[in-house]
Amino acid sequence: MKHKTLKGLQDILPPDISIWQNIENNARQIFKNYGYREIRLPIIESTDIFIRSIGETSDIVEKEMYTFQDKGGRSVTLRPEGTASFVRAYVEHHLYNEPAPQKYYYMGPMFRYERPQAFRYRQFYQIGVEAMGILDPKLDAEVIAMLSAILDSIGLKELNFEITSIGCGKCRPGYTTALKEFLSTRKSKFCADCQRRYDLNPLRILDCKVPSCIDSRHGSPPVIEFLCDECQKHFEILKQNLDLLLVPYSVNPNLVRGLDYYTKTAFEVSSESLGSQKAVAAGGRYDNMVDEFGGPPTPGIGFAIGMERIIPLIKDSANKVEGPDLFICPMGNEAAEKGLLLTEQLRAKGLWVEINFDGTSLKSQMRKANRIGAKKVIVLGEDELKTKKVKIKDMNNREEIDIILDVNEFVKVIQG
Ligand SMILES: [Zn+2]
Ligand SMILES: [Zn+2]
Repeated sequence: MKHKTLKGLQDILPPDISIWQNIENNARQIFKNYGYREIRLPIIESTDIFIRSIGETSDIVEKEMYTFQDKGGRSVTLRPEGTASFVRAYVEHHLYNEPAPQKYYYMGPMFRYERPQAFRYRQFYQIGVEAMGILDPKLDAEVIAMLSAILDSIGLKELNFEITSIGCGKCRPGYTTALKEFLSTRKSKFCADCQRRYDLNPLRILDCKVPSCIDSRHGSPPVIEFLCDECQKHFEILKQNLDLLLVPYSVNPNLVRGLDYYTKTAFEVSSESLGSQKAVAAGGRYDNMVDEFGGPPTPGIGFAIGMERIIPLIKDSANKVEGPDLFICPMGNEAAEKGLLLTEQLRAKGLWVEINFDGTSLKSQMRKANRIGAKKVIVLGEDELKTKKVKIKDMNNREEIDIILDVNEFVKVIQG
């Protein structure tokens, strides 16, 4: 029997992994400049944490969560996104007592039981951030500017930044009434879920993925036309500050987020070259969630970058695979031992060194050095050990130079 990954899952192997690490390193550097600190959260949480925050009638909660009973009979869920877990931790550890804004980031896998398709996996990775404790829209602009800086640093181009406001508890009732009125004549065309949602939470109909639902909600009034004065002002100041920070954006009144907890600012970054799964990052403000989790009323804003969406966009321009600084071809038993010691000594000096182990012919050792992309090669045989001299060959220009068989000499020549 052959074993394979589960449907919708993937192994991430070299050389691709270096693209992942490059993105993560860039992001970490930028987070440092913006004062964001890392937080590591569990991958599983109590199921009610997600039901409560993401919303009972959302697609995620109704259809996509990996939920099961653990051996203690508790209902647990593999996290489908990061914000709910973060807010749980934020309240549990009283992080709101630190000076605001409290700024955190995380990197890791999320899980959704969705139909697998291009760039969409059931285990997918996100780089997420959350900034807490500040209601000022200048923070929203700063968060979006930081997202732009990260995507820019990894060489992503031709991205669309779309923003909108989805209002607050004050403006939502008026909007919900107008939306229900618009949808009332089309109700019969909705899927069974949306029939139910019409009464429970009509906003969820806006992000249903069933084609007949997409068709029949076409032309519905956008929430942005129903904003209260406070939300209107927040949105205006956000736009002014995005202009100030030179972040190019457009307003998309039809932007909807599949999570119940968002208020005011919502945004999405997309790339046309990804086809139907074009969102590469998305986020928004959530000003009521901490309160709902039992903490003091605290506003928050965050975003998540989808790793599987950005990898294909930079794959072509990614650096080619790097090989070791030095490859040692030992000839004979004594050279194999002396070579092993030398390898260890050079690694301790910070060099990437490989030694051949299988005692094959020089020709096949050289072939291996080539295949793994070694930058320099030495042959270590009886003569070299006796004279304490060795020829070091540059694999790029094929030049050879004589050096003394000494650790510091190697370091000098290789780092040259
Ligand atoms: Zn409002
Ligand atoms: Zn539907």
